[in-house]
Amino acid sequence: MRRVSVVVIGAGQAGLSAAYHLKRRGTHSFVVLDAEPAPGGAWRHRWESLTMTTVNGIFDLPGFPSPPIDADEPSRVAVPRYFAAFEEANDLPIQRPVRVSEVRRNGAGYWIGTDHGTWLADGIINATGTWTNPTLPPHPGRETFTGRQLHTSDYVSAAEFSGQRVAVVGGGISALEQLEEISRDAATFWYTRREPVFREGAFEPEEAGRETIAKVVADVEAGRPTGSVVSYTGLIWTPYALAARERGVLRRRPMFTAIEPTGVREADGSFTPVDVILWATGFRPALKHLEPLGLRNDRAGSGSGEPRSNPVCTSSVSARPSRPWGPTGRAGPRSVP
Ligand SMILES: Cc1cc2nc3c(=O)[nH]c(=O)nc-3n(C[C@H](O)[C@H](O)[C@H](O)COP(=O)(O)OP(=O)(O)OC[C@H]3O[C@@H](n4cnc5c(N)ncnc54)[C@H](O)[C@@H]3O)c2cc1C
Repeated sequence: MRRVSVVVIGAGQAGLSAAYHLKRRGTHSFVVLDAEPAPGGAWRHRWESLTMTTVNGIFDLPGFPSPPIDADEPSRVAVPRYFAAFEEANDLPIQRPVRVSEVRRNGAGYWIGTDHGTWLADGIINATGTWTNPTLPPHPGRETFTGRQLHTSDYVSAAEFSGQRVAVVGGGISALEQLEEISRDAATFWYTRREPVFREGAFEPEEAGRETIAKVVADVEAGRPTGSVVSYTGLIWTPYALAARERGVLRRRPMFTAIEPTGVREADGSFTPVDVILWATGFRPALKHLEPLGLRNDRAGSGSGEPRSNPVCTSSVSARPSRPWGPTGRAGPRSVP
C-alpha cells in the first residue's frame, strides 16, 4: 500500500494537464495512474485516416507548444509523440499500465484499488475520458442480425466495407466522417434519431469554445447529466461533411424501428437489406471505478449540485479554448459523436 497526496487517474490530455499543475503548485506528492501501455491516452486508438488535417484541432498542453504539423501524419502517431515529449520534459510521475478498478472513501481520503496494488490518497483527480466506454443503444432485434456490427471505436478503414451495404447510425462528427469515407466505395444508409442540426459559421475557440465549456461546466456543477458535445455545439461543416453533402450522401433517414437478420425495418415499414451496421453512437464518461463513491444522483448526473470539491472529474470537454493544434479556423474542441 502506497500513500500520496493526490492520485490522478488517466494520462490523456486532461490527466497530463492536471499533473503539470500539481507539480507547478508544489503538491507534496502525487502519482498519475494510466491504463495505457504508453503515452497518448485515447489518441493511441484513432483510426488511420484521422490525420493531423482531419482532426478538429488539439490544444497545446500547458507550457509546451505543439510541434509543426505534418498534415498527412495519422493523429494516432503525432499526438502520442507530443504527449510523450511533454511527459519527459516535465518528468511527471506516471505509472503504466495501471488500471484503477475501484475508488472507495477512506476516512477523509480515498482508497484506490488497481491491478498493480493499492494506494491511499487525500484526493483524486479523475481524468479517464470516454474512449473506453462506447455507447451502444439498445435496439429491438440487434442480437438477431447475421451481418457485422461495430462501433466507431472499432473502425479501422473504409476499405473493409468495399462493395457492401452499410447502415451508419449516429449524428455526430465521427458518424459523418465515417459515412463520407465508406460511401466512396459502398452503399450507405444514414440513420439519426433527430434531424441533425448544423452550425452556421465557424466555431471560434475563443467565443464558441468558451461558451460550450461554460455550458458543460454549468450542467456538471448543477448535477445534470451532460449531453453529447454535438448537442452543445451543433454539427460543424467539416470538409468531410461538405464532401458528403456535395456527393449527395447526406440523405438522413429516421432511425429504423427494428433490426432483422439481414437488414433493418425502416420507420415507414419498408425493409432495407444491409451487410453492416456501424454504430457511431458516441461515448460516455468512463467512471465505473468511481461507483463505490455513490456520485450519481437520481437525474443520472453526478453530485448534488454543490460546487466541486475532491474528487474532481475532468469534463469530457478537456481542451482549453486557446490556439488549436491541427487545421486552423475550423473548430475548437472536437464534437464527439
Ligand atoms: C474519434 C474522436 C476524435 C476526436 N478528436 C478530437 C480533436 O480533434 N480535438 C479534441 O480536442 N478532442 C477530440 N476528441 C475528444 C478527445 O477524445 C478528447 O479531447 C481527449 O482525448 C480527451 O482527453 P482526456 O484526457 O479527457 O481522455 P483520454 O484521452 O481518453 O485519456 C484518458 C486516459 O485514462 C485512461 N484510463 C481510462 N480508465 C482508466 C482507469 N480505470 N484506470 C487508469 N487509467 C484509465 C485511458 O487509458 C487514457 O489513457 C475526439 C474524440 C473522438 C472519439
